Amino acid sequence: MYIDSHAHLLSEEYGDDLRKEIERARKNGIILVNNIGYNLKSSDEAVKLSSEYDFIFASVGIHPYDINEFDESAKNKLALLSENAKTIAIGEIGLDYFRKITDFDKQRKYFAEQLIIAKEKNLPFIIHSREAFEDTWNIIKEIGYFNGVFHSFDYGINEAQKILDKGMYVSFSGMVTFKSRETLRNVLKYVPMDRLLFETDSPYLAPVPVRGKRNNPEFVKFVYALGAKIKNIDIDTLSEIIKNNFIKLFPKSKSFLLTERRENV
Ligand SMILES: [Zn+2]
Repeated sequence: MYIDSHAHLLSEEYGDDLRKEIERARKNGIILVNNIGYNLKSSDEAVKLSSEYDFIFASVGIHPYDINEFDESAKNKLALLSENAKTIAIGEIGLDYFRKITDFDKQRKYFAEQLIIAKEKNLPFIIHSREAFEDTWNIIKEIGYFNGVFHSFDYGINEAQKILDKGMYVSFSGMVTFKSRETLRNVLKYVPMDRLLFETDSPYLAPVPVRGKRNNPEFVKFVYALGAKIKNIDIDTLSEIIKNNFIKLFPKSKSFLLTERRENV
């Protein structure tokens, strides 16, 4: 039983295969998918999709690539979507200085505004941060709200330590399985068990041994398998720990996940 803590089921790459991929996840031991919005449209659709499947939850936010659509009405819309029973987080939000798609000042300003929505709604947040750790961290500190996770973590042990010191979570994607990513595997080894999450970031970043294929939530099992090896524990114990971490960070998933457990006993 696996949780995919970060997938983009509404990516255009799935097209007509969307329902098929959801069924495939359900049949292959995925007990929950956190379906992540990245702009207004996908956030809105994520909330709608979550009403059709019990094990699909939604997160709503505007990704740095789409930050040009952030304005007063977008802010109100996100605040409204965040109140849905199946919306468990604000995200993904953050800073991306790698691809230089949108203005950095704008990214910083509206990242801060979305963190404020999370704080006001008392919801956790999901961070996308690429080549921008210092600014990301300064903005989080400025808002003074640390209830969140860095998704598809791609920094070093020093950065991880700062996040951990504030009680935040670290989520690893298939990237950690890539042959060249020994340093990232050392970070995974370092992060304490009670602060870990795993994800696919589907349809991107398919893990080894399916690297290069279109990713889907089922493939999170390969990230768990590596995690179990690195942490030297069996996969069932690891899955139970990750489930408890997920419930702690995303309390709106609690009653669903605990009901599932009863059914499995
Ligand atoms: Zn993502």
